[in-house]
Order: sequence, then C-alpha cells, then structure tokens
Amino acid sequence: PPDVESLGRATWTFLHTTAAYYPEAPSPTQRAHMLQLLHALPQLYPCSHCADDLGARMQRRPPDVRSRAALAAWLCTTHNEVNAELGKPTFDCGRVDERWRDGPRD
Ligand code: FAD
Repeated sequence: PPDVESLGRATWTFLHTTAAYYPEAPSPTQRAHMLQLLHALPQLYPCSHCADDLGARMQRRPPDVRSRAALAAWLCTTHNEVNAELGKPTFDCGRVDERWRDGPRD
C-alpha cells in the first residue's frame, strides 16, 4: 500500500500549488474542471479512510471554486481540518500565497 505520509505531502503540494495558480476569474469551464478534479479525490485517492474523510468534509463544506482566493481559502481550511484531526499545528491561511505562490518576502 502507498505511504500515506509521503502521498499526503505530495498531494497537498499538488493541490495548494494548483489552487495558487488557479485564475482570479475562472471561466465556467475552468470551474467545472476544478470541481471534477476535487470530486474525483474521494472516489480515487489511494488511502481509503482519507478518501472517505475528504468526501464527508466536501459534503459539509463544498469546494468554493469561484476564484483563486476562494479556492485557496477553502483548501487551506480543509487541510487545517485534517491537521487538527492528526494533531498537527494549524497553518495561518493568511500565508498561503507566501507558502505556495510568491515565496517569502523580506
Ligand atoms: P502535510 O500536512 O502533508 O503538509 C505539507 C505542507 O503543507 C506543510 O509542511 C506546510 O508547509 C503546508 N501546510 C500545512 N497545512 C496547510 C494548510 N492548512 N494550508 C496550506 N498549506 C499547509 N493522513 C492520515 O493519517 N489520516 C488521514 O485521514 C489523512 N487524510 C488526508 C486527506 C487528504 C485529502 C490528504 C491530501 C492527505 C491526508 N492525510 C491523512 C495525510 C496528511 O494530511 C499529511 O499529508 C501527512 O501526515 C504528512 O504530513 P506533514 O506533516 O508532512 O505535512
């Protein structure tokens, strides 16, 4: 079976990076593609309890694909819910662009 830790790190990297470069004003087609990508995860993600968990979260708080900022915030909140469940620290969602798009400022 896959290593849930490295699979998780790789998947969060993919998802946060994709959200960071998602359009500010996505077209209806781009929104539909993002929704398809996210809704495929609870079906296909190769860690079945993670997948079930994510599916339940997405039912409670559906993905917001209306803009880059909305998607990045939705994903950060979702990742923080998983962090909380795993006893990991909460990430400051105000720093999501710095982490996944712009890099640190100094
Ligand atoms: P990760 O949580 O993988 O985070 C990687 C990096 O992302 C961090 O170093 C940090 O820089 C950044 N980051 C952290 N939080 C946020 C945030 N909120 N917003 C933006 N960036 C952030 N593991 C389980 O054991 N059980 C599960 O049920 C489970 N469910 C998962 C569901 C999904 C959809 C995914 C993608 C992963 C899941 N995992 C689960 C794996 C788990 O979330 C971690 O990826 C894994 O434990 C490795 O953790 P890590 O400490 O290296 O950092």
